[in-house]
Amino acid sequence: MDACYDAWRTGGGLRRDRWNDMGSAYLMGAVTGHRKLVGGCDGEPRTRPDERPRSGWGMPAPRHHQVIVIGAGIAGLTAARALQAQGCDVAVLEKSRGYGGRAASRTVHGARIDHGAQFVTARDPRFVAQVEAWLADGTMVRWTHGLPSWTAVDGWREASAEAHPRFVSPDGMSSLGKALAQDVAVTREAHVTRVRSDGGAWCAQTRDGERWSADRVIVSTPLPQTLALLADGALPPALRSHLAAIDYAPCHALAAGYTGVTKPAWPGVRLPEHPDLAWVANDTSRRRDTRPGEVTLMLHATPAFTRRRYDDTPDAIASALLSIASALVPWALDPRWTYHQRWRYAQPERTLPEPALAQDGLVVCGDAFGDGRVEGAYLSGLAAAECVALGA
Ligand SMILES: Cc1cc2nc3c(=O)[nH]c(=O)nc-3n(C[C@H](O)[C@H](O)[C@H](O)COP(=O)(O)OP(=O)(O)OC[C@H]3O[C@@H](n4cnc5c(N)ncnc54)[C@H](O)[C@@H]3O)c2cc1C
Repeated sequence: MDACYDAWRTGGGLRRDRWNDMGSAYLMGAVTGHRKLVGGCDGEPRTRPDERPRSGWGMPAPRHHQVIVIGAGIAGLTAARALQAQGCDVAVLEKSRGYGGRAASRTVHGARIDHGAQFVTARDPRFVAQVEAWLADGTMVRWTHGLPSWTAVDGWREASAEAHPRFVSPDGMSSLGKALAQDVAVTREAHVTRVRSDGGAWCAQTRDGERWSADRVIVSTPLPQTLALLADGALPPALRSHLAAIDYAPCHALAAGYTGVTKPAWPGVRLPEHPDLAWVANDTSRRRDTRPGEVTLMLHATPAFTRRRYDDTPDAIASALLSIASALVPWALDPRWTYHQRWRYAQPERTLPEPALAQDGLVVCGDAFGDGRVEGAYLSGLAAAECVALGA
């Protein structure tokens, strides 16, 4: 298993490092180069998407690509985009109807809301360059510098002067996924149920029976989902336990819409000491066009609250969280509408030091590598592409 990290972290390209005890790694030549493979899944002939002969059982033969990427979140799309820019034939399989994964938005009761990632920070020069490009084309705007916090004892505390700028997308955070997916072949509503290695190819099967094969596969889903996909001995036991050690915090996210109220003066507020409510965003402050008197709040419960009340009804969650928020916003208890989303894997509770891991044509990436946020997912996607390009 290659841990693609040290030199990569400094932006100086990949150094191959043997991942001791987890299996050996072989440098096989850049994927754009390219080596010949013997067959598709189950020894069947490999086909390009535009020519799909039937196998002996009447089933379409698997579609074959140089690389398939599972997951059209920030990590998967970044990897696919980087590989495509190098001339690689890459296809992305995404289970949902949208792009961007947990950098998610939707329109509810006429309001655009961000129910996943709330904002983006950028520290690494490679992600800074991407954010600058998004600022230039209007995909992103600078939302705020730092954020105030609130505690029951001390009340409001203003943001620190040294805080990093926070960037958002006025059309919703899923715009980042949409931008990354441009000109990339993404098949949506393709829920992969199994990924395995077979006769020199990697094979992915979707819930509706479609089969795909590739020389390399990048899996960018949250790690518990990655481990479930890679059953049947696709991972050496030591690597499986390395990845299984990462837990994710769940999150109840609640949007609440109001009319006839005064817009809060703050963009968002952290509640660092509250046991149940972690964050309240003035979601309206992220949008370009807003109607007078209309405000949408986005509330995030703490991981402890979410775990304790994981199966509560959306109404029960709304009433509990809005009651806490009413200490900050007096009208919070009287919304015109609410929308609830429960995230099982919101953010990794700790992360792995490597930006991605690769072995025998399988690359695992995502926000669990690096920093557990959008920036980390982006950098992990770049590292995954680099692993593939270097033949890991
Ligand atoms: C409530 C919340 C608040 C957050 N706030 C912030 C924040 O303010 N700032 C920040 O930087 N980050 C924040 N994050 C974290 C950030 O959203 C993630 O770190 C980042 O989006 C992860 O990207 P990813 O590509 O690694 O994974 P994901 O976004 O999870 O992408 C994985 C993709 O794989 C797809 N998938 C899963 N299983 C399958 C399958 N079997 N077959 C096919 N496709 C599959 C999923 O649908 C998804 O699109 C927040 C997250 C949440 C949930």
